[in-house]
Amino acid sequence: MQLPRLENEDVKGKRVFLRVDFNVPLDNGKVSDKTRIEKTLPTIELLVKKGARVVIASHLGRPKGKPDPQYSMEPVYEVFKGLVKTSVNFSKDVIGENAVKLSKELKDGEILVLENLRFHKEEEENAPAFSKSLAALADVYVNDAFGAAHRAHASTEGIAHLLPSFAGLLMYKEITELSSLLSRPAKPFVAIIGGSKVSSKISVIKNLIEKVDHILIGGGMAYTFLKSRAIPVGNSLIEKDFEVEAFQLIERAGVAGVDFQLPVDHVIGDKFSADAKTKTVDKMGILDGWMGMDIGPKTIANYEKVIKNAATIVWNGPMGVFEFDKFAPGTMAIAKAVSKSKARTVVGGGDSIAAINKAKVEDKITHVSTGGGASLEFLEGKKLPGVVALLK
Ligand code: AMP
Repeated sequence: MQLPRLENEDVKGKRVFLRVDFNVPLDNGKVSDKTRIEKTLPTIELLVKKGARVVIASHLGRPKGKPDPQYSMEPVYEVFKGLVKTSVNFSKDVIGENAVKLSKELKDGEILVLENLRFHKEEEENAPAFSKSLAALADVYVNDAFGAAHRAHASTEGIAHLLPSFAGLLMYKEITELSSLLSRPAKPFVAIIGGSKVSSKISVIKNLIEKVDHILIGGGMAYTFLKSRAIPVGNSLIEKDFEVEAFQLIERAGVAGVDFQLPVDHVIGDKFSADAKTKTVDKMGILDGWMGMDIGPKTIANYEKVIKNAATIVWNGPMGVFEFDKFAPGTMAIAKAVSKSKARTVVGGGDSIAAINKAKVEDKITHVSTGGGASLEFLEGKKLPGVVALLK
């Protein structure tokens, strides 16, 4: 089914409740990265151009269902104001008298930013009365918060049942790009999966095994796979409870005819630290007292070969502890190889995006997903409540 798109709608003079994902990182009360705000600007500019009266709402951090000044949307509003060319106002409440009054005072093309939705516990509870109060602020609902689409909250799910609802431009792009990976991707299709824990990526690997030709594993999660094959991993990160499942996944990939590759060499450290002593060792070389912190040069070469021939690539999770410079080369090499490939490339997950930014290759990637959890759940084959509600 097709998502209802905003582009074709006449919203002139209408109040539009726009759910965005302005859940940006804050450093000492200041926005330290405005990427998430910028990604939503095309939708906001389109609404302003169409003459809508835009009420913007987002969550920010985890304020535990009650007002908490450290999670106020005000610093986000201050940054946002400087990015658009129209009048923007701020409401210190979400559904109170002030929000209602200010939303009614909006003129065509003007914007109101509401306080943090999660100052009300009813938001995460998806409480019908709260959804109704949010809906009372507008005539139309637009959801551009892909990053929150895997949550059935009042502002992402409940409200969509109460107002004519549409997908914003970012939401539409995310769903289109991610869907194209799952339905008839160009072959060879390569999945590069890394990150710390195998437990958080098992479902996505299971779902992708049915669709991909190659799976390249890196990061901390590689060591649970290696241990399950009785390869020594020293003090590397291990999830003991997942060894059997990891072993079964390798078997399953074999049965499905998928080329499932694990690191064949490693950069190891004597402690989990930026100033750890390091060594490069082969497959059997991780001794007790040492831990695998990055993929080694032979693994990089193996993975580069597969990436070079790919027609579709999805990447989620770094290949090593790339936050420490000594253990960043594996992730940087993969980022560069992915960016040079002629394949359709989709990168998801907060840390992979940070890696892409560190390697300065973002503009060479077909699609960098803004939603970590949401993109992972989508690739696991789950239905996202925020998307389902738009399709109602
Ligand atoms: P995730 O959120 O599961 O994608 O994991 C990202 C985190 O995995 C990053 O913070 C990396 O530092 C961490 N990571 C990557 N490789 C390793 C490793 N070999 N050992 C421990 N942590 C790792």
